[in-house]
Amino acid sequence: MRYDKSKREFLKKCMAFSTGMICLPCSEILSEIMSGDQKTNRRIAMFQEETARGIMCHICPNECVLKEGELSECNNRKVIKSKLYTLAFGNPCSANVDPVEKKPLYHFLPGSRAFSIATAGCNMVCLNCQNWAISQTSPDKTRNYDLMPEKVVEESISKGCRSIAYTYSEPVTFYEYVYETALLARKAGIKNIVKSNGYIYEEPLRKLCSVIDAANIDLKSFNNSTYLRLTGGKLQPVLDALKIYKEMGVWLEITNLIVPNWTDNFDEIRSMCRWLSDNGFNKTPIHFSRFYPTYKLEQLPPTPVEVLEKASEIAAEEGLIYVYTGNVPGNEHSDTKCPKCGATVVVRQGYRIASNTIKDGKCHKCGTTIDGIWN
Ligand code: SF4
Repeated sequence: MRYDKSKREFLKKCMAFSTGMICLPCSEILSEIMSGDQKTNRRIAMFQEETARGIMCHICPNECVLKEGELSECNNRKVIKSKLYTLAFGNPCSANVDPVEKKPLYHFLPGSRAFSIATAGCNMVCLNCQNWAISQTSPDKTRNYDLMPEKVVEESISKGCRSIAYTYSEPVTFYEYVYETALLARKAGIKNIVKSNGYIYEEPLRKLCSVIDAANIDLKSFNNSTYLRLTGGKLQPVLDALKIYKEMGVWLEITNLIVPNWTDNFDEIRSMCRWLSDNGFNKTPIHFSRFYPTYKLEQLPPTPVEVLEKASEIAAEEGLIYVYTGNVPGNEHSDTKCPKCGATVVVRQGYRIASNTIKDGKCHKCGTTIDGIWN
């Protein structure tokens, strides 16, 4: 399946990106392993094809076709001596230990730590990106850690993490680094998580799913025109990816960020929830997340809490079982309830687990299975 990208290119040209030296706040625990040698971070890119027009990348629907020396739309792939290379291998610009709830994953090893990494680059251009300083630039413009896959696994183990999360920017675009690290992590008994926009083609996604345990995928809108204007991407590839994640047995949760004036249309939210229900995602947790003014949408207000609550009501009416709201201080809708008897089985305070009474994956009160990976 192929998708038209002309509108996306137009949107990208309209956006002025920062090109200075950029780094997200990084954990002090890793300060001793900072490095800047970009040459060692090149690897032959996977899923490339030589065509008459140039080297084509088949990882995502942007379908970059690049000539000698050209940089990809995701800013971290380049043609060098007639081969496509990833420039994002072993050089994350961000590395932190996070609670797994931060991804957010609420039904996957609750209360555990995830060693979380990101390189520069993204294949979307979201107007509301919270991490634009790293997502909309390239690895040679960020301050990076020297963390080859073996070192990522070692650090994860030494920090008591049960998983590695590929997150913050877009793991689809540092695919080779994710894949190789995830393979090693699997062998070491560490789980792998992606927090992704789901903008990836079927073949690379199926290969990725073979080493990934859990995913939180952003479903940013249910209107294709809005998707294009807000993110530069298209809706259908993301829906296709959700189906593949599920079919491949990856534990899946979905985030829908509600942006005022953009994605707060209740009819569209209902259509989205109905599609999810009709396509077998009724047991997939959905997180309605609150927007805060940022990046190109600084002029907008935060999402009213009532809008998030109304969206949650709609989701429940459409048959979605595990519905949460996120980014709301003092949030009442972050606890997990038994779908049968209504007992509260997991109580969350922010990213902290205040109590978890799930036993062997079942409700402590009535014994009903609570979907998820709990141990
Ligand atoms: S992953 Fe990057 S290089 Fe490949 S098609 Fe997508 S945007 Fe282009």
